[in-house]
Amino acid sequence: MSANLSALAYLISSVCFILALQGLSSAKTSQRGLTLGIIGMILAVGTTLASPIVSSYGWIITGIIVGGIIGSFIAQKIQLTALPQLIAAFHSLVGLAAVCVAGAALLEPASFNLGQIGSIFRGSLVEMGLGVAIGAVTFTGSLVAFAKLQGLVSGNPLIFKGQHPLNAILLIGLVILIGLFAMTESHSLFWGITFISLLLGFLLILPIGGADMPVVISMLNSYSGWAAAGIGFTLANSLLIVTGALVGASGAILSYIMCKGMNRSIINIILGGFGGEQAAASQGRAEQRPYKVGSAEDAAFIMKNAKSVIIVPGYGMAVAQAQHALREMGDILTKEGVQVRYAIHPVAGRMPGHMNVLLAEAKVPYESVLELDEINRDFGQTDVAFVIGANDVTNPSAKTDPKSPIYGMPVLDVEKAKTVLFVKRSMSPGYAGVDNELFYQDNTLMLFGDAKKMCEEIIKALEE
Ligand code: NDP
Repeated sequence: MSANLSALAYLISSVCFILALQGLSSAKTSQRGLTLGIIGMILAVGTTLASPIVSSYGWIITGIIVGGIIGSFIAQKIQLTALPQLIAAFHSLVGLAAVCVAGAALLEPASFNLGQIGSIFRGSLVEMGLGVAIGAVTFTGSLVAFAKLQGLVSGNPLIFKGQHPLNAILLIGLVILIGLFAMTESHSLFWGITFISLLLGFLLILPIGGADMPVVISMLNSYSGWAAAGIGFTLANSLLIVTGALVGASGAILSYIMCKGMNRSIINIILGGFGGEQAAASQGRAEQRPYKVGSAEDAAFIMKNAKSVIIVPGYGMAVAQAQHALREMGDILTKEGVQVRYAIHPVAGRMPGHMNVLLAEAKVPYESVLELDEINRDFGQTDVAFVIGANDVTNPSAKTDPKSPIYGMPVLDVEKAKTVLFVKRSMSPGYAGVDNELFYQDNTLMLFGDAKKMCEEIIKALEE
């Protein structure tokens, strides 16, 4: 394929990726966005394979077959609730790829048109130094995020004395080493940069507490984009630079949105869990107070006689796959003349947009699904808040307890509804590990059980 033709194909791919991102910004246009993304990716891979610099296809085909089999196997097996850790694991691979490409370019610069060993272009050395640093931080940072989300290590912030000065020293050391490496092309300095960056990835993510993990995921997403852009510079591949920059920038915007949704400072989170000390201190309080327990029949009676119901879904709805039964329950109530709406918190579930995806899958009408800002003030005039598998996103300690790890995060004001129904299996806390004061309120009724089963029982009671 000629250089002009491949440049044109790359340009078309880039446009497809930009339109894909635009399409994915709304549930209505997301399928079109996804299709455009797939077309762009097929065109990009095809163009790269047809490039004259590809001298043999053996390894590439082996890689595609092995990777394809592993990817398809994982895609078939994965539960939607385990997607965040899968994404973290994939981010780690992008980071590792950046490290490997930078290492290969250092050892074989001629193959990458970067000059000869001992006289690699200065600009390329800077790109390699930055690429390997971002890649290595992304690699280990994503591994820690994976381990935390998978429950392999504690979700609590892991904090030790002198952590922030140590991070600062490592960061300054890293900048100096990259400068020296660009001037000397020393292999030991390159591996030194790699080692420090790997260490920094661990140290930056370990102190981040469970409640702040949504921001970490989107931040690592952004890092992985910049790491891919770094690989693009080393390989002089314009499409990789554009795509990496798109991922990097959209990940950064998402991190900003998540930080705003949780009222967190992005700088504090990037620097590694400032404020986590408070988080650690307030966890693990067990409450022994009276609370009211209701049944599916009670819930059906209360909701049937209500004028308005706001449903608040959370992680437990995703675990139970209760969205279809929930929609059915909502439909019956609507037919009975009850106004039914759904309130979505930006960090409900375990990944950005988790609840929106599930409700869209169950064909809940878009117009009855409202974001926190749009619906929060309506709880005061609502008869029933039906909280299904959500916990942290309703916890008033975010407003009242400065020691709480979720303090400052805007939450859904469900306590203002006349009656609050809580569907969950026990009195256990949510992801942030904080007891929820709402369970003990006078107007709260706990409905213990699996979310899907409870919805099915309520449907039965409503029909009777
Ligand atoms: P929470 O984790 O706060 O609470 C979920 C609740 O669901 C639990 O209290 C659990 O209680 C209940 N539950 C679990 N399984 C079932 C089931 N089968 N049936 C019924 N209930 C069930 O979820 P929220 O959505 O309220 O909040 C999300 C939390 O996750 C926040 O802390 C957020 O920071 C964090 N997070 C969010 C990410 C994102 O991108 N959205 C990413 C990573 C973390 P019980 O065990 O008693 O049933």
